[in-house]
Amino acid sequence: MLENLSERLQGIFSGLKSKGRLTEDDINAAMREIRLALLEADVNFKVVKNFVARTKERCLAAEVLDSLTPAQNVVKIVLDELTELLGRTDSRLVLGSRIPNVIMLVGLQGSGKTTAAAKLAYRLKQENHAPLLIAGDVYRPAAADQLQTLGDEIGVRVYRGDGRDPVAIAREGIQDAIDNLRDVVIIDTAGRLHVDADMMEEAQAIKQAVKPDQILMVVDAMTGQDVVNVVEAFSAAVDFDGVIMSKMDGDARGGGALSVREVTGKPIKFISSGEKPDSLEVFHPDRMAKRILG
Ligand code: GDP
Repeated sequence: MLENLSERLQGIFSGLKSKGRLTEDDINAAMREIRLALLEADVNFKVVKNFVARTKERCLAAEVLDSLTPAQNVVKIVLDELTELLGRTDSRLVLGSRIPNVIMLVGLQGSGKTTAAAKLAYRLKQENHAPLLIAGDVYRPAAADQLQTLGDEIGVRVYRGDGRDPVAIAREGIQDAIDNLRDVVIIDTAGRLHVDADMMEEAQAIKQAVKPDQILMVVDAMTGQDVVNVVEAFSAAVDFDGVIMSKMDGDARGGGALSVREVTGKPIKFISSGEKPDSLEVFHPDRMAKRILG
């Protein structure tokens, strides 16, 4: 993911480094190339515009152009702005004192919610918590089976319920967690293929009924430009607290990962890069920015 962007940026920087002194024209040309590279990686156009404007202004400052190593300073500024774009500091999952703590996952169908629910449970279990998974996706019959299979694999209890009402299942699941001494519950909810009013109403109803401590939106990193509309819709409807970026191991252009923070103001908390239970990592904006710049 983002390898092409990485290669493009490295090419632009080595061009600058080969020049020695840099003129305003050199900076302008480099910024145009950076703009194109970001757009081709599917970063949202507004995000690109603001990013390039901020970066260019800093690069055109006299202390950069007149310095002994202008190209290196440009690289540093781009790295700094990229880190800022990705959220600057790590945004760890902090559990509140309520027991059980309630984490609700939302997102489109196929985004990787069910997989992410199990991965998060696995992670919490490794951290000595006693999680419970709630199968709140009542429309996709295979979803509860899938969660059950994953729960069995990682040794985490799954509450399935037998009704068709996701609000009731969420409530009962929390009671089940209390009865079975679980300290965190993760509610998997139903998604649809596209943003849809029923899906949002259902998520709002669950939110209102169980008052989650955290709502995390699972976003497929391969979504492309449309990712902005999707996250904006969820942000407006359920006001989530953070993002789990899934499928970071894909070979798509991955610009969504660079756009969500700026578009929603919400941090990426985890990235997932595989189907195995242990493939959920805490997201580090600085490491990601450094990796992109090579
Ligand atoms: P849901 O509909 O949102 O619950 O999505 P699922 O959890 O069922 O995931 C949809 C598909 O994506 C499944 O085939 C998962 O195995 C796959 N998937 C989920 N997360 C990742 C990931 O990080 N990397 C890869 N390669 N596949 C993933």
